[in-house]
Amino acid sequence: MVKKKEDKKQEEEMKQEEEMKHEVVKEEIESEVEPTSIAASPDEVNILSETEIKEVEKEKKPAQKTNIEAWIPKTEIGKKVKSGQLTSIDDILDSGRGILEYQIVDALFPVLESDLLMIGQSKGKFGGGKRRAFRQTQKKTKEGNKPKFTTYAVIGNKDGFVGLGSGKAKETVPAREKAFRNAKLNVFKIVRGCGSWECNCKTPHSIPYKVQAKCGSVKLTLMPAPKGTGLCIEKECAKILHLAGIKDVWSKIIGQSNTKMNTIKACEMALKNLMATRITVETKEKLSVLQGSAALKAAEAME
Ligand SMILES: [Zn+2]
Repeated sequence: MVKKKEDKKQEEEMKQEEEMKHEVVKEEIESEVEPTSIAASPDEVNILSETEIKEVEKEKKPAQKTNIEAWIPKTEIGKKVKSGQLTSIDDILDSGRGILEYQIVDALFPVLESDLLMIGQSKGKFGGGKRRAFRQTQKKTKEGNKPKFTTYAVIGNKDGFVGLGSGKAKETVPAREKAFRNAKLNVFKIVRGCGSWECNCKTPHSIPYKVQAKCGSVKLTLMPAPKGTGLCIEKECAKILHLAGIKDVWSKIIGQSNTKMNTIKACEMALKNLMATRITVETKEKLSVLQGSAALKAAEAME
């Protein structure tokens, strides 16, 4: 009996020691993860930014609506757009000259929709947290961690024109504004058509031919699909295609598609490859190819 009691005592002691060790290890880890900063504890900073992210994500739209009347254009194209000499975005894009003022796009597109792409990830245990619109990165400095936010925006008129752009800043709101501005500057034209052999409807609801693009290890293929298919593609790419005005598409993706930046860039390049492909007049009619906006083409035909 005495021996048993001694054994129990020993066991208890062992347990206590182990617990002590665990605590020490925990403290060590915590001290490593969160270095003491002078201004504010890193915990507070993280909590603030998390709520901020949620608020910003709710809006998902640029805070300031650009006032075109108050805009003073600096470039030649800008001046022409303001005075009403240039009324079509086609003329600017076909001339090969870059758009340097985002107000040009605002002035030329009456209806412009926008969205943020989920490139980031919130903190979380057990295999990571939810996807977020802001990618949060940190730089280690003497004063503490310096967070930075990156985001990717997409704009489009759902009728043949899309733009993609990224923005990076120390806070979320300026990053988002930068992203929208860059997306407007990078607006480009796409080609639509009906290239599916299952569907011979002669309306531009899909793409006319298969295109492929690669960024990093991500290799993305877009394929024409018959009417009613929907967007059978990765979520973020679906957002881009939706704003571009493509309704039906099939896709194939090879590589590390969890690297969202690369996936988005591959999608952008694939869409640009649609314009880069040269086709004969007969195939153009056969696949009912449409470049750019259907509404603009209809307006031109009326005139
Ligand atoms: Zn069709």
